[in-house]
Amino acid sequence: MAIPEQTHVISVDSVQPDFAAIHVAAELLRAGQLVAFPTETVYGLGANAHDSAAVGCIFSAKSRPANDPIIVHIAALGQIDAVAREIPDLAYQLAQHFWPGPLTLVLARHPNIPPNVSAGLPTVAVRMPVHPVARALIQAADCPIAAPSANTFSRPSATTAQHVLQDLGGRVAVILDAGPTPIGLESTVLDLTGEPVVLRPGGVDLEQLRVFIPNLQIKPRYIATDADPANAPGQLTRHYAPSAQVLLFSGPVGPVRAQMQQTAHDRIASGQRVGVLVIDEERELFVALPGVQVVTLGPGDDLAQVGARLFAALRALDRQGVDVIVVRALARAGLGAAIWDRLLRAADGKFIAVEG
Ligand code: AMP
Ligand code: MG
Repeated sequence: MAIPEQTHVISVDSVQPDFAAIHVAAELLRAGQLVAFPTETVYGLGANAHDSAAVGCIFSAKSRPANDPIIVHIAALGQIDAVAREIPDLAYQLAQHFWPGPLTLVLARHPNIPPNVSAGLPTVAVRMPVHPVARALIQAADCPIAAPSANTFSRPSATTAQHVLQDLGGRVAVILDAGPTPIGLESTVLDLTGEPVVLRPGGVDLEQLRVFIPNLQIKPRYIATDADPANAPGQLTRHYAPSAQVLLFSGPVGPVRAQMQQTAHDRIASGQRVGVLVIDEERELFVALPGVQVVTLGPGDDLAQVGARLFAALRALDRQGVDVIVVRALARAGLGAAIWDRLLRAADGKFIAVEG
């Protein structure tokens, strides 16, 4: 692939994307180039999933290790047979209920899909996004699109076209800009190649999936960075991480808030630049601390909004140049499982347990 001389950002309507813009992007994909596009979860960095060389460019553009597999995106159920094989009935049941939407299924890989898409694994992850721009692009390109999140590897995922440009400017031919992504957290990854297990909590929550798979569990994703990646593709601990150190507090709300205030105070006193990431109701507890950067995530009872703003908030604090980010665990039910997962990995798998 020729390295693009510059990245073109093309604005498209998020509901009725302009055909001319989609056509330009689809032609680039068919010619082996990379295109970043919005989905309902986060922005994706796409390549033709049948084009092994183009897929290779995704890894280099993102500095993504070759052992981290990529999700393949389709626009119609009919495309699944060209991506996966030996598809169990459960996959069709789930697809009927959750597609298009933020659920990714891991299935046996079809030989048409080049091995580098799946980091050499015999499996493939496949999803049908609901975002009109993603759907129009896949249809116009007329091929499945391999697309990981459109960020530099291990950085917070991109939820706006500006985030993509910051990380991948000059490394991707076109960014389709349809504004912020509505969910803002990646898809739920469900492995159906053995006993069903959730590999990554995401936009579809565990409770919804347990209607179909009653005893479904989440496989823990917090493994040592030097563990054998073949056993846990893409599961290295530090991920979604800003440059700043993330201090994640967990425990009863009152003592946790007090500990966060004390820590912010101590760190400022020791000369560090401190960022605080809180729900709206907690802003007042921190704004009076001199020099502290407070970023809010929305009301504490609106986890959809908190999830949608999380990655942008981590990036905003990074741009303000803070050394440390103080944040606390929220409720872990529903979308809370995905929010906790992203915070824990941003904090390098560690949290500070506060006693009641
Ligand atoms: P991203 O698209 O950047 O959100 O990353 C995709 C993630 O999906 C990877 O990091 C893996 O955790 C998971 N994934 C993709 N393909 C597979 C696969 N074949 N087997 C297991 N997990 C996968
Ligand atoms: Mg990613």
